[in-house]
Amino acid sequence: MTDIIIIGAGTAGLSAAIYALRAGKSVLLMEQLTYGGQIINTPEVENYPGIKSISGFDFAQGLYEQAEALGAELKYEQVTGIDDGEVKKVKTSSGEYECKAIILATGAKNRPLGLDKETEFIGNGISYCATCDGAFFKGRVVAVNGGGNTALEDALFLSNYCKKVYLIHRRDEFRGEAKQVDKLKEKENIEFVLNATITELLGEDELSGVRVHDKLSGEDKDIELDGLFIAIGQMPENAAFAPLIELDKGGYIVAGEDCRTNVAGIFAAGDCRTKTVRQLTTAAADGAVAALAACAYAD
Ligand code: NAP
Repeated sequence: MTDIIIIGAGTAGLSAAIYALRAGKSVLLMEQLTYGGQIINTPEVENYPGIKSISGFDFAQGLYEQAEALGAELKYEQVTGIDDGEVKKVKTSSGEYECKAIILATGAKNRPLGLDKETEFIGNGISYCATCDGAFFKGRVVAVNGGGNTALEDALFLSNYCKKVYLIHRRDEFRGEAKQVDKLKEKENIEFVLNATITELLGEDELSGVRVHDKLSGEDKDIELDGLFIAIGQMPENAAFAPLIELDKGGYIVAGEDCRTNVAGIFAAGDCRTKTVRQLTTAAADGAVAALAACAYAD
């Protein structure tokens, strides 16, 4: 039996693994896609204390290598449910694993706009990852939708490749850092389209533009585009735990700064839990807090 099973190998999960392994516990990490989590899509991380600048991919790789060197075992399996009891059980698409404590670190996935043709146009003009797909749009006209740090970073990143970048946001204030907004304002090839919502994706087999509704004037206008990068936040993926674990209205796991859920011995770390600040630093901090609490429980 494993001491601690960690579900999700993003920043929170890998940080938890490092802390638990260093405390002498056996750790099994379960991941459905690839290790690293959301940060692998961030071109440049400049706000992690002690690291002036690093790509999200390199950051994630470093975390993974650190956990692996300590003996972390990683299984690529989709978790379908968990059972409580003296021995806890994690059920996956391929089997069942027993452990003393569980850390849920499932992060969140990209929120879609929910418009017609959105899924059809993925890879045909629509992307949720500027780092992954930005290079395909070199010299072309693109838009980024959103007003958080992801959208701001994506717009800045794309402005280095693309002929023109529209930044479309539904308000005239940004949720992301003011310093990033200032950097964008200095770029000649970035145009802000504010108080605007995308109401239609234009094009037949591939995206050719968007229809945008101006909330102030009430007018609609079409913007011709080669690409649209959607960066309107994330949604948690905690449905598999809902029968046992308390979730809030948005689907986030209800847990405070101590990372404790409503079930003893099951902890939640990182973006998957209720919190106001979702950053790399807070994900890593959660990983440490949850791991030490899980270690104490599993003793
Ligand atoms: P976010 O901060 O939640 O921002 C989402 C943005 O999308 C908001 O501006 C929101 O508008 C807009 N939005 C939401 N739903 C929408 C819809 N249906 N239609 C149009 N616009 C919509 O998400 P994020 O930018 O992905 O960032 C997630 C977390 O990661 C944040 O805590 C962020 O600070 C963090 N992050 C950190 C770094 C870093 O540390 N370097 C990098 C990237 C992200 P409103 O503002 O009007 O609600």
